[in-house]
Parts: sequence; structure tokens; C-alpha cells
Amino acid sequence: MEPPIFFAPPENIQADQIHLPAAESHHACDVLRLRSGALVIVVDGLGTAYRGELVIESKKPSIVNVHAQIRNFGEPNCRLTLAAGLSAGFKFDEVVDKGTQIGVSRFVPVVTERSKVKMEDARRIALKTARLEKVALAAMKQCRRSLRPEIVAPMAIAQYLHLIDRDSFKLVFHPSNGARSLADVLPPELPKRITLLVGPEAGFTSDELSQATAKGFTSVSLGPRILRTETAGPVVCALVMERLGELR
Ligand code: SAH
Repeated sequence: MEPPIFFAPPENIQADQIHLPAAESHHACDVLRLRSGALVIVVDGLGTAYRGELVIESKKPSIVNVHAQIRNFGEPNCRLTLAAGLSAGFKFDEVVDKGTQIGVSRFVPVVTERSKVKMEDARRIALKTARLEKVALAAMKQCRRSLRPEIVAPMAIAQYLHLIDRDSFKLVFHPSNGARSLADVLPPELPKRITLLVGPEAGFTSDELSQATAKGFTSVSLGPRILRTETAGPVVCALVMERLGELR
């Protein structure tokens, strides 16, 4: 069996020793009932993992003696950003949870014309970023990654398009008859930086679509069935990851 995974922030990590935070130590000792000498993996949330041996002294907090360091542990070879439209009453947690498991590196909640979420509400949502970071952390450990995805504070779509990374390969998803499919638009060699944009529950306006295409996004349809926005985000990420050979 693969060793269990724990998280420690970089400040807890020295060259050959890691201090597990209290919650992780509790999980190791009291939930998993690991003993001193158990092999474990500690990830730092920045893309590095450490293999080592658990040392339990006077129960807790526990220390891990490091045997080996592994860069990019569990990480895909590309940087995938998922920008997704917010909708009133819609929780971004599910998108962050599933997207993290699939390999997203960065989430951008965007407020669009049809979001029915005002920017003031979006700022309140920003307060929830801490909760989303917890969701991302749990998903990162669960799926054995070492990078905790970045969660950007919500922003208006115009602002997002203004800041867009010009070098990234960019797709915007919009249901439309006769629009191109993913297979039509993906080049044989995909770039290392990819940005996927999905709309809120009520979709994009035609203005927003033209602004996105003016910024280098290619519009793509996923066929006749309309997916909920919280389904569409993780699904498009999985399709692109499969194409990159990351799901084999
Ligand atoms: N009534 C809206 C549907 C929005 S679904 C409309 O017609 O636009 C929410 C988001 O999920 C969409 O904005 C799009 O980004 C994505 N999506 C859902 N189903 C899709 C499909 N079949 N093709 C492309 N994108 C889709």
C-alpha cells in the first residue's frame, strides 16, 4: 500500500525533518493509528513531496524524518486554469473539489452579466476563499497531488479578460449548434499553459463571447446536452487532461 499523505506548510519543513501541524499529527496518530517508523509522504502545497518516517514523541506533535524529496509529486505536466462563471446560490466548492482532483492549478471565479451576483456579493464570496482553500487542500491530499491550487478572488469578466495570460491556450465553452467541438480545436501538441472558461448557470451573453474571442479564446461546444456549470467545469478539465495523456 502507498504511504498515507500529510500536509505541512513550508515553514514546518527543514532539510531532513518536518514538523506535522497539530491537525495532521492528530490524523496520523489518532485516526490512522500510525506508529513511530511508519512510512509517510508529506506534501508542502507548493509542488514538492517528502518521503520519510514518522517519529511520535510523547504522542504529538509528530515529526517526520525525511528520506527523499520529490519535485512535482502527483502534478500534471501542464498548468491548467479553470475560470468559471458564478451564479446566485451556486457553491464554488464542488468545482474546486473536482477540478483539483482532475489537476487544475488555478481557479478563477468570474462574475458575468447573467451571474445575478453583484460585485458586493462577490466580495462576500471572497471571504469564503479561506473555505475554498480548505476544500482544495483536502482534495489535493485525497488525490495525492503536492500543489495546492491557487484560488483567485472573484472578479468581473471584463477585468479577467483584461488580465488574461496571452501565452496560454484558451478555450471558452458555449452551447451552440454548428460550433466547433473540442476535437476540432485542440492542436496535436498542446501547450503547457491552458485556460478554460465556462459560463454561469444562465450562460454567456454574445458580447462576452465576442470579448473573449477578441482576447484569443476559441469558442467550443460540447454537443446537444446542456451541462450545469458545476458539471461543465470539471468535465472540460477532464477532457483536456485526457487529451494531454494525463489520465492514463
Ligand atoms: N442556457 C445557457 C446554458 C448555460 S450552461 C446557455 O444557453 O448558454 C453553463 C455553462 O456550462 C455554459 O455557459 C458553458 O460554458 C457550459 N456548457 C454547458 N453545456 C455546454 C455545451 N453543451 N457546450 C458548451 N458549453 C456548455
